[in-house]
Amino acid sequence: KLQGTGTRTMPFTPDSLTRVIAVTSGKGGVGKSTLTANLAVALAARGLRVGLLDADVHGFSIPGLLGLAGVKPTRVGEMILPPVAFGVKVISIGMFLDTDSSGSGSAAVAWRGPMLHRTINQFLTDVYFGDLDVLLLDLPPGTGDVAISIGQLLPHAEVLVVTTPQPAAADVAERSGVVARQTGQSVFGVIENMAGLAQPDGTVLELFGSGGGAEVASRLGVPLLARIPLSVPLREGGDAGSPIVLSEPDDAAAAAILGVADAL
Ligand code: ADP
Repeated sequence: KLQGTGTRTMPFTPDSLTRVIAVTSGKGGVGKSTLTANLAVALAARGLRVGLLDADVHGFSIPGLLGLAGVKPTRVGEMILPPVAFGVKVISIGMFLDTDSSGSGSAAVAWRGPMLHRTINQFLTDVYFGDLDVLLLDLPPGTGDVAISIGQLLPHAEVLVVTTPQPAAADVAERSGVVARQTGQSVFGVIENMAGLAQPDGTVLELFGSGGGAEVASRLGVPLLARIPLSVPLREGGDAGSPIVLSEPDDAAAAAILGVADAL
């Protein structure tokens, strides 16, 4: 069970040296967690000290994406030590729930706002990350309780907005950027994911249309950092818990994610 004594203070205050980057999206299934996991690993491979907090409490997938399915954090006194994968210190609500044998997290989380707020606060306070250069947060999609809690607890966080190319997705994606700003956070940029799929004949199939990323970026007045193509290796690497920024850095999607890591 997650429970602390409340004797530690939250280390990620605005005057701390750790950069806090929260990844958000308007809706689920746009690849936010996949990109966040790969970005964290890419930053760690650059020599940075990286922590990753999976705040997507209802749809946590970070442990599986990083080969940590079924892995539990260890405890030392009242402190929780995060498991490490590919150089990234990782904590997820999924690590505190009973999961099925595949570790895929069939256990449902049906918490209401106040409990979510306490849990996020506790993750930030009682998990011993040590000195970090970057703390990445995988937020739940949309503009719900967790996004607002994170905004209150980490007002200095910089927000990355992930969207698909569909123009219809742009409205909801823009909204998550707007809510971040209302809590004082700054929007760093937009990442368009699931952009064109390269065909064997050299043409590009725009399966999910085009223009959504540029639209959200222009409405929020921030840069479009990358257009990540559809990529079978990216999906397979996620399923296998092996991030392609390490295993297949020449894949076009991996190269685009590495480009985002360089731009941060
Ligand atoms: P979210 O966190 O936004 O809900 P996920 O990261 O769980 O989305 O991704 C949803 C699904 O889409 C996963 O199966 C993932 O492997 C796949 N996926 C994400 N990005 C891509 C991409 N660029 N190409 C192919 N599959 C992708």
